[in-house]
Amino acid sequence: MENVIIYLIIFLIGTLFGSFSTLAVHRIPLHQDITHKRSYCPKCNHKLGFWDMIPILSYIALGGKCRYCKNKIRIRYLMLEILTGTVFLLFAISINIQIYNISKIIYLMVGILYISGLIIIAGIDKENIKVSKPVLVYEITILSAYMIYLYILESINIYRYVIYLLILLALFIINTVNLKKSKKENYTIQIIILCIIQAIFTYGYGFMMTATITLLSIAITCIIRKMLKKEEQFSKKMPIAYYLCFANIITIIFINTIACRR
Ligand SMILES: [Zn+2]
Repeated sequence: MENVIIYLIIFLIGTLFGSFSTLAVHRIPLHQDITHKRSYCPKCNHKLGFWDMIPILSYIALGGKCRYCKNKIRIRYLMLEILTGTVFLLFAISINIQIYNISKIIYLMVGILYISGLIIIAGIDKENIKVSKPVLVYEITILSAYMIYLYILESINIYRYVIYLLILLALFIINTVNLKKSKKENYTIQIIILCIIQAIFTYGYGFMMTATITLLSIAITCIIRKMLKKEEQFSKKMPIAYYLCFANIITIIFINTIACRR
């Protein structure tokens, strides 16, 4: 019974986060503040009240329309809230969460923070074909804090993390030098940084699975686009980070489920 309550709370946190991530995806590329400025309707710019910001319920209560300008709210917002809630819930189920198991609770929190970052990276990449640097730095910070915890409190050997971190540092330096020279962010370097971050969280074999799912989904998307003969869409750039992030989330849930059944 107490587990049902925990799962419900985790789902609700997920929907709240889903609602926050639509805002983050919209504002981070515009370099707008994401924590202090109130949410507003993208159509009429009216500031949203507390009752307009409750995930899922507000959407249903308002009939999918803005309270102030009566314009339709995109159903995407509702879908993203439900999807994020479900992802958080599946993640908690996959690690078979128990309240009295501290290391599982810590792993749950790190996982939720990490997956949240992936969802924002995916959203920004899908809209702009760009990997957000502040969110990459956020992910590295979360992972570094987790490594320090593992090393100090669970005496786990973290030498492979240190090697990965040094590679990441080198890539960030290359990225900065490149940015100064060409005045343009290098998408390839950003994708490699994202891959290494994912390899740190899911280990080598987990990343192999992530890469496989990513390649398969990109291939399938290409085939579908070709079949629908959407030529103009076919020449459009692929949001690689978007595919990588969702593949990584599937991998994490899959690997944890198997590891817990053993
Ligand atoms: Zn409005």
